[in-house]
Amino acid sequence: MRECGDCTECCRSLAVYIKDVNYKSPIGKYCKYVKKDSGCGVWNDDKSRHCKRFYCGWLLNEKVPAKYKPNKCGVVFKYEDQNRNYAQYWVNERDFKNSKKSMKELLQLTPARENIRKTKVIA
Ligand code: SF4
Ligand code: SF4
Repeated sequence: MRECGDCTECCRSLAVYIKDVNYKSPIGKYCKYVKKDSGCGVWNDDKSRHCKRFYCGWLLNEKVPAKYKPNKCGVVFKYEDQNRNYAQYWVNERDFKNSKKSMKELLQLTPARENIRKTKVIA
């Protein structure tokens, strides 16, 4: 089974809203609770409730090549349906040179639905 290990890409690629403490973090900014070497600093806390509902495609599907680990390729994705026919993507074009190319390759494996935004480019 795959593990996040040194990756924390979803903690800045997705917008964060933690209602309990009225904390918001926009797309592209690291959540203030992230510990860069060890992941979420509040994982055992109720604060991370919202994040526990995010199912990272790379983590779930071991058939997706290892090179697409989000902190290696700059793309985070999640499946949009149970059969994993569609996915939603977030691409970090700022910090990863080949992220657009990686996203194109990932789209070949799992397309994005037309009515779902394919990318959220990190500013
Ligand atoms: S992007 Fe995926 S692999 Fe990386 S920290 Fe988030 S859940 Fe883990
Ligand atoms: S609360 Fe934890 S898991 Fe959620 S974005 Fe912040 S650091 Fe990441």
